[in-house]
Amino acid sequence: MSDCLFCKIAAGEIPSSKVYEDEVCYAFNDIDPQAPTHFLVIPKTHIASVAGICAENSAVVAHIFEVIAKLTAELGIKSYRVVSNIGEQAGQSVPHLHFHVLSGRDMTWPPG
Ligand code: 5GP
Repeated sequence: MSDCLFCKIAAGEIPSSKVYEDEVCYAFNDIDPQAPTHFLVIPKTHIASVAGICAENSAVVAHIFEVIAKLTAELGIKSYRVVSNIGEQAGQSVPHLHFHVLSGRDMTWPPG
């Protein structure tokens, strides 16, 4: 989508601190980290949120979770949280599917 911030980051049109990239997804450090490790993993194709996952595109999500497992293992991260906010009330501020990966501090439950 031409006016989507994360589409532009994935395409390299807006700079970001890249963690990982392949043909399907892009991972980069969050600009406003909420934990010592806080990166985002996004599909390169535009999906607005988890609510837009369907039979035609769900393989991308499986791939993203494989990448999260691989990256955290490579970084030596054994305990972490994966979060995806859907819609305004849940705190979604960028309407392009993304999974937050947070680690490096104690976390509470339930989330605020
Ligand atoms: P959401 O609020 O939608 O769950 O998560 C969006 C995340 O994107 C936020 O944690 C926010 O800090 C991050 N973010 C917003 N704009 C940018 C940007 O231009 N670059 C990077 N690296 N992160 C961004």
